[in-house]
Amino acid sequence: MNSISRGIRLWFDSEATEVGNSEQVNWLRCIPFVLLHLACFAALWTGVSTFAILFCIGFFWLRMFAITAFYHRYFSHRSFKTSRAAQFVFAVLGNMSAQRGPLWWAGHHRHHHQHSDQALDLHSPVQRSFWWSHMGWFTCDASFKTPYDRIRDFTRFPELVFLNRYDALVPALTMLAIFCLGELLAAFAPSLGTNGLQLLVWGFFISTTLLFHSTVTINSLAHVWGKRRFATNDNSRNNLALALITLGEGWHNNHHRYPASARHGFARWEIDITWLLLLLMKKLGLIWELKPIPARVQQEMR
Ligand SMILES: [Zn+2]
Ligand SMILES: [Zn+2]
Repeated sequence: MNSISRGIRLWFDSEATEVGNSEQVNWLRCIPFVLLHLACFAALWTGVSTFAILFCIGFFWLRMFAITAFYHRYFSHRSFKTSRAAQFVFAVLGNMSAQRGPLWWAGHHRHHHQHSDQALDLHSPVQRSFWWSHMGWFTCDASFKTPYDRIRDFTRFPELVFLNRYDALVPALTMLAIFCLGELLAAFAPSLGTNGLQLLVWGFFISTTLLFHSTVTINSLAHVWGKRRFATNDNSRNNLALALITLGEGWHNNHHRYPASARHGFARWEIDITWLLLLLMKKLGLIWELKPIPARVQQEMR
């Protein structure tokens, strides 16, 4: 009983209690993740509307950008600079993806780059199974903790440490806000044909599940499917399909060759929407000092 209540407390406070280093799936801990998937089927009862689908798609891309540009290129690799306010806003947007806190995400990602496709890599499809790399590795206690020692450069911001510790708070508030929006629309714009539950199912559960599986293709598929331009020490690949789904992250072999670059599509034709949006943010003065692809790496491409 004690271990059950401790496990449940971890849903709300990721540091409520010590966790071990087991690599077995912790099913109690994963109940919210399983429920997220099951909740998508509620669409059979809530029905659908054009507004709900547009919201689902729009919220998917907004959060995908927060994950690729900020959780990945900014927090994990520091490939550009920004203000403390913008850093916080995009940390909150990324946290709305229910992919845990920015420090957990970036700390584990730095570990991936250090040990990529080696024995210590937590989500290598080369070392372990494809499904373990896709959605198994984070279900065990061994990867539940935030590796704070790898992300010391951001632990001096108490607002980030708070978001990271109570990493279910923002997703819970997001669900509540989406439900309220749906109810308001049902009352004041009934012609849209939506309501609280319908918008919650499409705008959060389905959108977040699609976002999750799209993001983690970079851990799984981008290490087995595609072309290798650079002979890196891992099995990373460049893949156009994955780059389109993830706003540019699919140029993963480029990224492993030079992780600090803010741009992942190294060639002109390598579509990298995140990079284009980062250029726009730079024009607007929201970010600066974007790290370029070094000349020596460009030489290797020829
Ligand atoms: Zn990788
Ligand atoms: Zn990376």
